[in-house]
Amino acid sequence: MSPSPLQHLGYWRRLICKRAPGQVVVQYTTRCNARCAQCGMRVTNAAPRVTLSKDDVRRLIDAMAERGVASISFTGGEPMLYARDIAELSRYAGAAGIRYIRTGTNGYMFRHHDRPDFRDRMERLADVLADSPLNTFWVSLDSAVPEVHEENRGLPGMVEGLRKAVPIFHDRGLYVSANLGINRLTGGRGVVPDAGVPFDRDRFTEAFRIAFHRFYSMVAELGITIVNACYPMSLDTGGEQNEAVYAATSTEGLIRFTPEEKAAMFRALYDVIPFYRDRLRIFTPRSALLALMRQQCGLDKGVFPCRGGIDFFFVNAADRNVYPCGYRGGESLGKMWDLDLSALDRRQICEKCDWECFRDPSVLLKPILNMIENPFTFRSKLPGHRDFLKVWREDLRYYRACGWFDARTPPDMQQLARFKADPPVWNTEQDPPEGLGSLG
Ligand code: SF4
Ligand code: SF4
Repeated sequence: MSPSPLQHLGYWRRLICKRAPGQVVVQYTTRCNARCAQCGMRVTNAAPRVTLSKDDVRRLIDAMAERGVASISFTGGEPMLYARDIAELSRYAGAAGIRYIRTGTNGYMFRHHDRPDFRDRMERLADVLADSPLNTFWVSLDSAVPEVHEENRGLPGMVEGLRKAVPIFHDRGLYVSANLGINRLTGGRGVVPDAGVPFDRDRFTEAFRIAFHRFYSMVAELGITIVNACYPMSLDTGGEQNEAVYAATSTEGLIRFTPEEKAAMFRALYDVIPFYRDRLRIFTPRSALLALMRQQCGLDKGVFPCRGGIDFFFVNAADRNVYPCGYRGGESLGKMWDLDLSALDRRQICEKCDWECFRDPSVLLKPILNMIENPFTFRSKLPGHRDFLKVWREDLRYYRACGWFDARTPPDMQQLARFKADPPVWNTEQDPPEGLGSLG
């Protein structure tokens, strides 16, 4: 389903006013039934739990729609503990004119796939979700090795259950996305060096290339057609970690990386993506990886500021307040229905983390916003601009071939085939990608 002409008009009107189409991540609940080592909401953590009321969320949605928000994500905790509520609220958001509606799961319901009621359970869930305007339904996966993922999450058997459930969802026209939370176990145990091991750039990059290669292969083999990567949710900025309102953050070694390690990790992902673009719809924009790599190398400060707190926001379940994002917990903006967008400082520059939900679209939108600001000089304001713009344009062409990742449409394999790349021949000595001068 494409945006209506009226929605298109609204997005362009925002862009002309130098604002990106709005995005809000709503933490529907802090309840969770998984045990992820990297997350403060794990079930074994004795923290108070809250869930928003449907009335609260309806009021939030009305306020978002009034403010021209284009996209809403229902996150948790585990949103699928409330699958019917999420489907109902998605219908409400769709009716209010919000075009992009997303939610996901840790996949707990895919356990016990050998029980006789498994198929019935999956059909019921798929029916509930398909009967809503959801256009992203993600399943979190941490590792290419099922046992490693399941052990970390405390969800034995979920990968095999996911494999069995995928065709049931597809039959109902809902194409599941795999959401990789990048960590040191992405490729399985012993592939990526542990935190604290002396850094060897070539070795580290190669290890992550292997990890991503294994991961994309697994996703394709599971029959999943859409995939995204969440960059590690750790902050190494002293006390600011304690301010995060979104507890899916951690200082755990599993997801804690030095800037050099992050640059190498982004580089590996940048290298591997082209080899899977002809068979998977991979959301991760290579232009954003380029920007984040350069930033980890200390380059381009302020060139790709995050739209968090300007056009993108996070609603915290505990106090129902709006924050610039899940990290900036010291900056409550009050209630969504009281939020005056025109009073926000649009020149604020934040690049404190790599939260892909906000950073990827911020980079993607930046050339458009620059162009609107000044069509004659916008190129020169982008780093390594020729190469960056080449990668960015290629991302947009690919996004179009992916049908903009709408989970309600099947992949167009003919379109994707245009992006077929030669098989990978890694050369750790090769020059850094164009526009990445000082990484090497
Ligand atoms: S990462 Fe997600 S699934 Fe895991 S404990 Fe946190 S909220 Fe639950
Ligand atoms: S860069 Fe990170 S901390 Fe800053 S606004 Fe964006 S998501 Fe928040």
